[in-house]
This record gives sequence, C-alpha cells and structure tokens, in this order.
Amino acid sequence: MKGTVLGIEGTAWNLSAAFVDEKDVIAEVTHTYVPPVGGIHPREAAQHHARFASHVIGKLLDEGRKKGISRSMIDGISFSQGPGLGACLRTVATAARALSLSLDVPLMGVNHCLAHIEIGRWKTPARDPVTLYVSGANSQVLAYNMGKYRVFGETLDIGLGNALDKFARSAQLAHPGGPKIEELAKKARNYIPMPYVVKGMDLSFSGLSTAATDALAKASLEDVCYSFQETAFSMVVEVTERALAHTGKNEVLLAGGVGANMRLREMLKIMCEDRGAYFYVPEKRFMGDNGAMIAYLGLLMLNSGNTISVENSHVNPNFRPDSVEVTWINEKDGEGDL
Ligand code: AMP
Ligand code: MG
Repeated sequence: MKGTVLGIEGTAWNLSAAFVDEKDVIAEVTHTYVPPVGGIHPREAAQHHARFASHVIGKLLDEGRKKGISRSMIDGISFSQGPGLGACLRTVATAARALSLSLDVPLMGVNHCLAHIEIGRWKTPARDPVTLYVSGANSQVLAYNMGKYRVFGETLDIGLGNALDKFARSAQLAHPGGPKIEELAKKARNYIPMPYVVKGMDLSFSGLSTAATDALAKASLEDVCYSFQETAFSMVVEVTERALAHTGKNEVLLAGGVGANMRLREMLKIMCEDRGAYFYVPEKRFMGDNGAMIAYLGLLMLNSGNTISVENSHVNPNFRPDSVEVTWINEKDGEGDL
C-alpha cells in the first residue's frame, strides 16, 4: 500500500481533516461544533463546518508542509459520504470535491461506520473482529464476511449516544450527556428496573431514554444514570456476544464515542474473558469521529481502485455499511490481514 491521503470528516458535530500514509497519521486538525443550548442542530452544525472548512484544511496543509508533505505529494482526497446529517455531509463533500479538482487527484467517498472499524484494525492488534460501534447516531454490531461488513444487530430507533444525550438534556445536563451520566452513575446506590429491549439481534433505546426521564420523578439522578447505563450496556453486550458465538470470531473491537465509557469497557471485557476472546479498544482520539479514520479508509480505497468521479460523489445520509463492497480486503492473497 502506498500514498498520502487527505481525509475530511464532518458527518455531525466534528469537523476534522487529516493526512495519513501507510505508516501513520501525519497530521490532524479539528474544529468542533458545540451547541450553545440543547443538542446538535443540523443546520447550525453545517454552518459551522462551512465557516471553518477553509481554516481547518489550510491549517492541515501548513502542518503537513512542516512534516514534509507538499501539495504535489497528495495522492487522493477522501470524505465522509454518509451516514450523517445531510447538510453537514454536503458541506464537507463540497470541500473535498474542490480539493480533488484543484489538485487533480482521485476522490474517495468513505462510509463513516467502516472508517471506525478500519482505524480500529489499524491501530489495535484486532484482525478480524466483531465490532461494537456505538456513537451518537449509530449503534451497530458488525463483522466481515465474504466481501462485506455485515450488520449482525443494530438499533431500530436512535443511537445509544443520542439516547444518553436526550435523557441528559431532560435532566438539565449540558450536551454531550454521555460523560456526565458516566460520572453520576459512579455515585449511585440502587438499580431501578428499566426497559431492556433486544428484539432478535436488534436494539431499541428510545423507550429507555423516556423511561429514564420518567424515573427522575421518584429516584435520584445518580440511580437513574446508573440504571440507564447498566440496562443499555447489557443490551449491547448481549448482542455482541451472540454475534461472536454465531460468527465463531474471537476478537471484539469497540468503536464510536460511547466507547469512551469505562463501565461499558469493563462489561465487554468480562464477556470477552468468559468466552476466551480478545477485547480491543483504540486510543481515545481514534474512537469518536475523527479525520484520520476517513483519510485511512480513503487510503485503503485508493490502493484498491475504489475511487469516484465528482459527478457520482453525491452524499448519502443513510449510507449503510453493509452496502459497501470491501475492495481493500483480499482474503485469497491474505491482504488486509483477514
Ligand atoms: P460520536 O458520534 O462517535 O462522535 O460519539 C458521540 C457520542 O458519544 C455522544 O452521544 C456522547 O454523549 C457519547 N459519549 C462520549 N463520551 C461518553 C462516555 N464517557 N460515556 C457515554 N457516552 C459518551
Ligand atoms: Mg461516528
């Protein structure tokens, strides 16, 4: 694998651009949208990305230059094509197209969920894991099989992070609520029963979020935070464990912003130890949304001829990871380490 790719992430709250080559992340520049009140407002997030795109990319080019990357050394441009907020995706895609045209290099449209998995496979020893991807908007259990990353289970409504954030807002906690809920849960005394909704291999968090808000009328905030976490995390661990059993794989990779939660990690670790499976968590900077993962999957795609023309580079807010043909893993030749 060779080349240097500039990748841009901007599916929701985080605008982030990075340079990677096959060895490492060369530089990364990020500017984060922080809602003044409430949760993420799609139009305001997109306006944030439009306002800061040239600043972020300009700064990245400067940082790259300091590390010896001149413009003529950029071999391709990649961007988050989806899933994500439509207005945000369009803003970032516009910047990526302009760069690809002006530098006259190929363009790669990256599936954001798969980028989370691939950076995890790059930056941890995981080779062929079952991935639990839990972020603001997404919650999925995925694993590679015969040319595609298959979705073994997923949320039927909102993502786990959004469920935590929504409950947190109802409790007057500032966005993002996940880290605050984690801290409060440590001071809990009691578990309050909450709706545990696993349907086959799929999950539902929206009723849990509402039930947690209702429970505040009769229980302490700490107890509700704890009970929410224990219930939701047990649900995702159950589905991850069944995906392991079904696929016969022996590695679990954690991805997405909710993966920062130490209690979730602890529960997954216990489950993996019980089954004799390895458990891998990337460094925190590679867990939430980041430009490096978009640049890295862009590099894999570039090297496997998976590029798109500007005409065909429209964004896809519902871009499913299991619709992507995985050109960068070649099982027969052992490429991609599977
Ligand atoms: P992402 O969409 O992958 O960037 O992740 C953002 C989500 O991660 C938000 O919903 C946050 O509330 C959530 N999050 C971040 N840190 C934690 C934490 N320590 N515990 C639970 N959720 C978290
Ligand atoms: Mg994400």
